[in-house]
Amino acid sequence: MSNKTSLVCQRQLLQYLADGSFYSGQWLAEQLGISRTAVANYLNELKQHGLEIFSVKGRGYKLANPIQLLDANKIKKLQAADCAQILVQHITDSTNSQLLNKLQTGQPLEQGSVIIAEAQSAGRGRRGRTWYSPFGANLYFSCFWRLEQGVTAAMGLSLAIGLAVCRLLQHQYQLDARVKWPNDIYVNDRKIAGILVELSGQVAAACDVVIGIGLNIGMPEQSRQHIDQPYTDLRTESQQRVDRNRLVVALQHQVVSVLREFSRAGFASFVTEFNQHDLYANRKVLLMAKMPITGICRGVDKQGGIIIETGQSTDVYYGGELSLRAGG
Ligand code: ATP
Repeated sequence: MSNKTSLVCQRQLLQYLADGSFYSGQWLAEQLGISRTAVANYLNELKQHGLEIFSVKGRGYKLANPIQLLDANKIKKLQAADCAQILVQHITDSTNSQLLNKLQTGQPLEQGSVIIAEAQSAGRGRRGRTWYSPFGANLYFSCFWRLEQGVTAAMGLSLAIGLAVCRLLQHQYQLDARVKWPNDIYVNDRKIAGILVELSGQVAAACDVVIGIGLNIGMPEQSRQHIDQPYTDLRTESQQRVDRNRLVVALQHQVVSVLREFSRAGFASFVTEFNQHDLYANRKVLLMAKMPITGICRGVDKQGGIIIETGQSTDVYYGGELSLRAGG
């Protein structure tokens, strides 16, 4: 069966199962006009993409948690008239890869265009690490922007985007979100979102930027087996029901407004705000580099470099290869 048929059938099945009640395989098969085996196969594929589905003999199938599907029409209605398109995908390798691919094949993209997906099969973190992206649980969001000032102006961009996520979590859910230099967002000392900025373009000329954000909303139980550090999600932290369609529109709004500010004034205009949201502000940290450095974190400079005070000196460190950890 074609991918398109599979997509349509999976979405139809999910529309029935969305409320979290039991539905028999026979009944689902009749509604869709397909066999029970086909129902089982479609649901198995979704299971492999991290959706938690129970199947109980004699009762049928049931989602572990009710689900709200991403809906391109609803999203469009919620967007202001001047917003760039948000393209909704079902299951993709990585929303960043999809956008980069569009750029490489010369497809025209409007500033602020976004791709989101229900699941990623190859979600990426920094330096080849994996971003666990189970189906229907979170937001996997990539946004296109063109930086006229070129690649060198992009330093600090992931920090500024981190602040866009903090603003969103603060305004919509009253959460005290923090940025862990250079690319992660924490709530109550647990990771709730990660950012991956990827660039394509010349050093001197304008460069195309793809900004990926993975924001956890309702992580399934099984995530523990896939993630080797403390994490959290929006549902747990806010104790509220989260409307993903509304959230994606609000996220695009915050990200684009930060990108406009960044294009105009660079990272310098975000330094104060970053230092107010710095996860490790004035805490003892270990900077993991070729030669690890232990000291007190004193925020960032105007280019987004991390300032670390040791017993001997205070120095600024830049670069995508560095990681920061508590303690040391
Ligand atoms: P760094 O400080 O270098 O950024 P990091 O371990 O946070 O270190 P990232 O590349 O930012 O690395 O993120 C990838 C890591 O995040 C994975 O190795 C995993 O530990 C964790 N992770 C993966 N998926 C998720 C998720 N959905 N939610 C929270 N954390 C995740």
